[in-house]
Amino acid sequence: MLKTHNCGELRVEHVGQEVTLAGWVHRWRDQGGLVFLDLRDRWGVTQITINQESAPDVHAAAREARTEWVIQVKGTVIRRPDGMSNPDLPTGEVELDVTAFNILNRAKTSPFYINKDDKVEEVLRMRYRYLDLRRPRMQHNIVLRHNVLRFIRNYLAERGFVEIETPILFKTTPEGARDYLVPSRVHPGKFYALPQSPQQLKQLLMVAGYERYFQIARCFRDEDQRGDRQPEFTQLDMEMSFVERDDVLDLIEDMFTNLVEEVTDRELVTKPFPRLRYDEAMLRYGCDKPDVRYGMEIVDISGIAGASEFRVFVENVQAGNPVRGICVPGCGSYSRKQVGELEDLAKEAGAKGLAWMAVEEGEGQVRSSIAKFFSAEQLQAIITQMGAGPGDLLLLVSDTHAIVCASLDTLRRAMADRLGLADPKQIAFCWVIDFPLFEWNEDETRWDPSHHLFTAPMWEDVPLLDTDPGQARGQQYDLACNGYEIAGGSIRIHDRAIQEKIFGLIGLDVDVAKERFGHMLEAFEFGTPPHGGIAPGVDRLVMLLAGEPNIREVIAFPKTQQAADLMAGAPSEAEPGQLEELHIRVIDTE
Ligand code: ASP
Repeated sequence: MLKTHNCGELRVEHVGQEVTLAGWVHRWRDQGGLVFLDLRDRWGVTQITINQESAPDVHAAAREARTEWVIQVKGTVIRRPDGMSNPDLPTGEVELDVTAFNILNRAKTSPFYINKDDKVEEVLRMRYRYLDLRRPRMQHNIVLRHNVLRFIRNYLAERGFVEIETPILFKTTPEGARDYLVPSRVHPGKFYALPQSPQQLKQLLMVAGYERYFQIARCFRDEDQRGDRQPEFTQLDMEMSFVERDDVLDLIEDMFTNLVEEVTDRELVTKPFPRLRYDEAMLRYGCDKPDVRYGMEIVDISGIAGASEFRVFVENVQAGNPVRGICVPGCGSYSRKQVGELEDLAKEAGAKGLAWMAVEEGEGQVRSSIAKFFSAEQLQAIITQMGAGPGDLLLLVSDTHAIVCASLDTLRRAMADRLGLADPKQIAFCWVIDFPLFEWNEDETRWDPSHHLFTAPMWEDVPLLDTDPGQARGQQYDLACNGYEIAGGSIRIHDRAIQEKIFGLIGLDVDVAKERFGHMLEAFEFGTPPHGGIAPGVDRLVMLLAGEPNIREVIAFPKTQQAADLMAGAPSEAEPGQLEELHIRVIDTE
């Protein structure tokens, strides 16, 4: 090794020892007779002092060094003089009195500061990702990711899970996104599909008798990119045989509880994880991935609102639609303009408008343009039902159930953000269960699976597949964390007849189904055990554990929102010869 210790290691007990360090110049100060260098490596920073009088050659060499040069130094650990120690640095009580100084490599001036946590334009960070990854914050995230994965591997291995790799070049494995295709050279005109998840393969591993499988699996989905999406991402893919829903939930809950407590400095505030039925989650939070770190839950006031004189509410309630709202604490002094901004948010989520009431002192007292349509008793009943007090702001929406949910979810998140209600140090998990098996696809006039097409219906709901599929519940479960969907899974169909029925309901032609999934149907006839699984998203999980705002901060080499790698320049054009071999002609669509 070119070093005897790392740059985060030296303490007072090393004083007097002769050591060799190597790393990058983090900062330097040239004070004439004395040069101070902070030397950095992955483990920390150590101060180096070079004295012109005692080591003139070394001093001359050190004066040349600039930030990010790679150097090696040899010297004696000494205690820093009184009053000079740095309590913010683990190595802050010592420094190195250098006797040998070796420049291992020079560096051009970096395009951005590596020694400061400055805000740097993301395009630049992506272009020079290897420099970005050198920054302490990124190193912390990447090492955290490693620790999370290591914990998970150990945890599962101790419980009899086997890590099995599955192919990347495969056949369509749909999860609701577009496939990435890879042309075959040896089979002209044919394509592999990159797996959107190893779903089919892990089920086949259950047929194969492995009983407990996991994989840190790369998944590929060609869909529009958002902050928390990437064209390729990592899932902790798992499957278990001879289990029921609660077996899967209990295992994941125990694993994540221990993970947060042992591997991170975050505070887990949900012990045990709450379990919400899907319809309950929609009613209380307006979404199936609620942030339960704070309250501000949705309250239904249809009963009172429907009995008022306010036409919009009355007509909506008569048509069977709800009136619901949230009580925003302490925002009763909002101006019309401020409420107008909130109304814009609600409209973006589909609502036609936003009604509001600012609660004032006194029985049934509110400031609101619609107050005149309510009696004092009705207003007081709303205040009571919504748990409001003087100074609070009530935001009310009336529309279809879906629009009311979407707009109040948006408002709840926006107001929590504004009021700082979600503590970034806290981690709050929550299960959502009892999803409907299907969603109606208006455009295609068919049922779409809410999860994916291998999810089993609740066994008692199987007869509904023939009579009223919309009412059938699926054995699906989602795990939410701090307002993000962090995992989805289900107990699977293990019976060919039910699987074929599902294909029919989602409008998959028998021949197409056979072509795409014939191997699954066939496997189901060779002794398939009851089985189920789940797949937590590793990127999102680490993002939340690291307290980062998007998954690009916890992926070493992520793609941009446009699915490009700016460092290597991918995607890029192929050589004509390559295309020819692949039997591909590129058509100019410009
Ligand atoms: N394959 C599913 C997904 O990627 C997870 C699962 O059902 O286990 O969301």
